[in-house]
Amino acid sequence: MSRGLGRVQRAVLAYVRSEPGGLSTVDGTPLAASVSGLARVVYGVEQPTDAQRAAVRRAVRRLEAGGHVEVHRRPVGRTYTQQRAHPRFWPPRYDRRLAVCTGEDGCPGCAAGDRPSMYFDADVVAMFIEHFGSLAEGDRQLWRATAHGWHLYPVPLPRPADDYHTYEVEITELCVRRALTDEEHAQAEHRLRAFIRPHVDAIRAARQGR
Ligand SMILES: [Zn+2]
Repeated sequence: MSRGLGRVQRAVLAYVRSEPGGLSTVDGTPLAASVSGLARVVYGVEQPTDAQRAAVRRAVRRLEAGGHVEVHRRPVGRTYTQQRAHPRFWPPRYDRRLAVCTGEDGCPGCAAGDRPSMYFDADVVAMFIEHFGSLAEGDRQLWRATAHGWHLYPVPLPRPADDYHTYEVEITELCVRRALTDEEHAQAEHRLRAFIRPHVDAIRAARQGR
């Protein structure tokens, strides 16, 4: 059954079959060994390198594909912090940018898909003065705009810092145990139910007593 397996796979399989973690007191099944723990045993080192852990992880995935082991991700009691936009589906926010069309290929307004407007009225003049900050500059830009028109196009705003939240992300690790037979799984299920039953009964009794 173990023929055709690589050296690391054989070592991992032999170790998990020895049930090194003992049996669960809850359902009686073998406790899983972590990839780090396996790497320590397989390579006989206290601090496995990333490459060694990666090799064990690959071996574990192959053994899993071959039905030799069962694999779960388990938290290992450490966390790291991560900044993440919140909520993720928050639509991007836009500012409207007023710009004189340069009439050239590199015009940012044209590149943004906006057709230049040749429309000028009091509102447009007021918008130019407000946007460019002074009557003189607004007037100057208006005259420039008479050549190729002007753009008012949306530009995405960067997210403000408070759009990001810091999360504690739990570090998980692959944990491995030998594959259980169907019968072992059925027994484990039975033991688990027996383990849970008194707790469920106690909760029910407390509810009825209220
Ligand atoms: Zn343009």
